[in-house]
Order: sequence, then structure tokens, then C-alpha cells
Amino acid sequence: MQISKCAPVLHRLSPALGLTLGLLLSGCAPHQQAAAPETAQQKLTEQTVFAVNWMQQSGEISALSYQAFNTAETAFTQARAEAGLKKAVVVDLDETMIDNTAYAGWQIKHGQPFTDATWSKWTQAREARALPGAVEFSHYVIEHGGRIFYVSNRDQADFAATVDNLKALGFADVSPQTVLLKPIGGSSNKTARFGLVERQGYDIVVYVGDNLNDFSGEPYHKLNTERRDFVNRHQDEFGRKYIVLPNPSYGDWEGGLSKDYWPASDEQKVKIREGKVDAWDGK
Ligand SMILES: [Mg+2]
Repeated sequence: MQISKCAPVLHRLSPALGLTLGLLLSGCAPHQQAAAPETAQQKLTEQTVFAVNWMQQSGEISALSYQAFNTAETAFTQARAEAGLKKAVVVDLDETMIDNTAYAGWQIKHGQPFTDATWSKWTQAREARALPGAVEFSHYVIEHGGRIFYVSNRDQADFAATVDNLKALGFADVSPQTVLLKPIGGSSNKTARFGLVERQGYDIVVYVGDNLNDFSGEPYHKLNTERRDFVNRHQDEFGRKYIVLPNPSYGDWEGGLSKDYWPASDEQKVKIREGKVDAWDGK
């Protein structure tokens, strides 16, 4: 309920007259609660709005998703497994096969940072959606003699919910053998899990991801200068072996802004982001 300091006077007048006078007399305007100044944490979250707008609203992101999976199909079809090995595809899950932008939307609406607890609550809700072309690609691989492995850094505690979510969306061959989440106490570097797939007699001919770490351990926990070097050194493999989905809202590129980024305070993170903007001098 809003409180007016003129209420004792106005409430003795007729309601209509009281309202009119109340509006005319600025001194009698209802007291607005002063908005709390935006915290640095809220600013960081607020800065994701435009990226999330694009990811949820643009036609371009759907087009890029179809483009990625059409390219992945061609790459898979043209690839030859090494002699004696079976063809496999490794795909990441979040922002590669499934869309979690509703969780990002919840963060924005409530000014909340990412936390493991709220992320787990989101995964347990099983409400992630399929990216355009992703379900069809999973079936294409199976129908053309390959195996698909879903290699994700989701927690083991969210395994059942993740499998439920993937099955409900219609993804192919979803099972404990094919869904490889981050091992308990293990590393988020996916190299060990790629090795696990290879030791079962598979040649991983195509990788699909939204993060360079989905393709190789080389850029893992590296700065963006080194991550860009990795891309340049492997330029012939993009679109042929490594298929990239766009994710401007989060990823290891964020920590790649500075070696001090993740340990930094929210205020420092805002400054690091602003400091990493290349700008024309205007002359
Ligand atoms: Mg991902």
C-alpha cells in the first residue's frame, strides 16, 4: 500500500476531489520507495539481456542451428573412420543440443547470478528445449551406422533429469552408455571422456559444441588469445570435424577475458568486461 503524507487531509474530502487534489499537489504525490542502486552483480546479469534476446527471438539463431546440423550431417557422411574403428559423433548438450535460455531469463527477471543450486533446480525441472535440427541430427547418425555420445559437464546428480529431458525431446540412443556427464570429483576437461569413447573402438569423426572445450582439451582454461590461436591452428577443421553453435550469453570465453576474471569481485568483472571493448577513437 502506498502512503501519502497528505492522506490525513485528503481522506476528509470526497474521494474524487481528494484524488484530483492529490494529483495536482506534487507535494502530496504518493511516496515512491527509492529504487535501490543496481549492484555490480545485477549489472553483470543485466548485460546478458541483449544476448538472451537474440538467442530467444532472432531467426538468425535458428538458421545457424540448422546450418550447424546440416553441416554436421555432411561432415559425418563424408568422414571415413580409421581402419577397424566405428564412426562416432560427440555432441555437447547445453546450448548445443538443448536450449536453456529460460534459465538465463529467470536470472534476468530476478537479478540472480548463476549458482550451482539454481542451475540444478532448472535441470531437475526438465524444461530445456531442443535446438532446431538437433533431434533430427541424432537420428541421422544412428540411421547411417554411427553412434552418438552426449558429453556434457552437467553434474551426475542431474543425470536422471537430463536423460528424462533428452528422451522426452526425442533424442536418439539416450542411455547411461551414451550420456557422459562430468565424473564425480572429476574434471570438466572433456579429454578423458573423449578417450573413454575411443577406447570402446570408436573414431570420433565429428564434434558439435558451443564451446571450444567441446572439441579439444587444448583451449581448456586458456585465455582468449590462446583460444583464438587454437582456432587459427585448426581452421581447416571447422565445418568439417568441429561444428560450432553460437552462444553469446555464457561460456569459457568469458573467463578467457582475463586470467583474473573468475576470482575477481563483481565490480572488477564489470571493469574487465568494459576494458575488453575495442573502440574506435571517433576521429
Ligand atoms: Mg555447451
